[in-house]
Amino acid sequence: MERVTLQEGLSFSRIVHGHWRAADWNKSTQEFLTLTEQCLELGITTFDNANIYGDYTCEGLFGKVLKAKPYLRDRMEIVTKCGIKLANGKNGFSLNHYDSSKEHIIESAERSLKELNTDYIDVLLLHRPDVLLDPDEVAEAFTLLKKQGKVRHFGVSNYLPSQVNMLQASLNMPLVTNQVELSVMYRDNFENGVLDQCIEKKMPPMAWSPLNQGLIFTSETEKAIRVRDALKKTAAEIGANDMDEVMYAWLMKHPAGIMPIVGSGRIERIQSAVNSLSLKLDRQQWYEIWVSSRGRDVD
Ligand code: NAP
Repeated sequence: MERVTLQEGLSFSRIVHGHWRAADWNKSTQEFLTLTEQCLELGITTFDNANIYGDYTCEGLFGKVLKAKPYLRDRMEIVTKCGIKLANGKNGFSLNHYDSSKEHIIESAERSLKELNTDYIDVLLLHRPDVLLDPDEVAEAFTLLKKQGKVRHFGVSNYLPSQVNMLQASLNMPLVTNQVELSVMYRDNFENGVLDQCIEKKMPPMAWSPLNQGLIFTSETEKAIRVRDALKKTAAEIGANDMDEVMYAWLMKHPAGIMPIVGSGRIERIQSAVNSLSLKLDRQQWYEIWVSSRGRDVD
């Protein structure tokens, strides 16, 4: 498996496994452990989580896996997130909101450590841009967590370039990634400067929902039908098993070094993402898919 270097001493597997839907997989700890070991055998060593996933349960589900086989921890990188507070009727919040205060970042990271049964987080991301973010306060929280060895690196998610610059200016450590939505169906982050900044800052992006949350497989919108046709045509041309492999290969042709996060708990679907690493699209094939998504030729 290809590795992507984010910083000196930090690399991710090109394909990442995401745990957002882990509560829906209804797996026993043994089944989740088996899936994790299968990922590691495929070379997928990076796992993406968040404090709020599964209504604050998904970190704990993975923590049980690590408790069952603690030696696996050293063979992987764990990414998790903080900064969103969900009103779930149990924690006293009356509405969903964002919080990037020093207190929340520290509390949330410490809870993540407990839930995940680990004594360090490889990368902690601020999940969404918080309108009330005070960069100096974030810097204090990051510095303390790093000094204590609880978090090794920090990054952001769903940030625009100006937001990355604003936060980075207060930090004495580099933001190592921006995790954003990227797919054949969602092109905004290709065109709004996010990927340009990732290249400029040598900050490889992670792509969430690389398969459009699975919607592309069944959606009957004109756009989805057009894109599916283009993907199937390309799949036949380049010898892909199916259109999902083309969607991953299409993302990975971009020079920013995009790391797709696979959202499925089914090993055969995770295998498809790994297969895509050997597929190559030429520029015309890439742009044919771009144009199918855009709905009109390039100018
Ligand atoms: P995705 O891969 O775009 O979507 C996964 C969904 O697609 C699953 O429901 C899966 O169903 C379905 N699917 C996959 N292959 C399929 C096929 N061939 N036919 C039909 N359905 C298919 O990714 P995602 O789960 O939306 O997101 C991936 C990860 O990104 C998450 O786990 C999380 O770690 C991260 N994320 C981050 C943010 C953020 O704000 N930072 C937001 C969203 C997600 P099965 O489960 O049945 O295979």
